[in-house]
Order: sequence, then structure tokens, then C-alpha cells
Amino acid sequence: MFCSNCGKEIPDGSKFCPLCGKNLTGGTNTSPSNEVTVSSTPAEPEREGKSKMAAGLLGIFLGGLGIHNFYMGYKGKAIIQLLLGTVGIIVLIGPVISAIWGFVEGIMILAGKIRVDGHGVPLV
Ligand SMILES: [Zn+2]
Repeated sequence: MFCSNCGKEIPDGSKFCPLCGKNLTGGTNTSPSNEVTVSSTPAEPEREGKSKMAAGLLGIFLGGLGIHNFYMGYKGKAIIQLLLGTVGIIVLIGPVISAIWGFVEGIMILAGKIRVDGHGVPLV
């Protein structure tokens, strides 16, 4: 018999051509594709600077509820101000304290005294 691939004479009944290695059994020589598409992009958190103007205005107008600190990521301070501004009403002066506190922080943010957010990322 002759190889269907290279045309050389090969022993009858050969399953493979000894000369070119062609599979002569008729079966399609499909090698299982072990290709695994790896799309592992390292999860790098986006650290975009928060807006100084927005943080400052939030502090001035909504500082009593700690909104500016929630915005900047100062969670602890934000929660204290939120509590002062809400349940703080039971001691009457609570919301007043948090409003003044927030207002002052808003001014400090706009004046550049507070320069980074709760993650240490500079305000822009
Ligand atoms: Zn051959």
C-alpha cells in the first residue's frame, strides 16, 4: 500500500505511515484541546481621588449627617456624625454638634486642611 499523505510505499495494513507519521486508519486525528483561556486580570482596586469640592459642600450642607465622611470613606467619623445628627436629637444638642462639626470639616476640606480621603487617597 501507499501512504495517502506522502505517497511512499509502506507495509500493508500499516496504521501509521513509518515515513511521515500520517494516521492511515481513517480516523481524524483530533487531539483534545487542553487550551484554557485564562483571563486573570489582577484585581487592582481603582483608587480614584474623591472630589474635594463635593466633599466640602457635603460637609457644609449635610455634615450633620456625616454624608461627607461617608463620601470620603471615613466610616467611623461618618457613623458618629450620623448618630449625633439623628438619635442625637434626644439630647437636643446632638444634631447641633454634628452640624457644626460637619460644617467645620467642610470648610477644612475646601481650605485644603483635609487633603486625603479615608483611604489616604488625595482629594482632587
Ligand atoms: Zn507517509
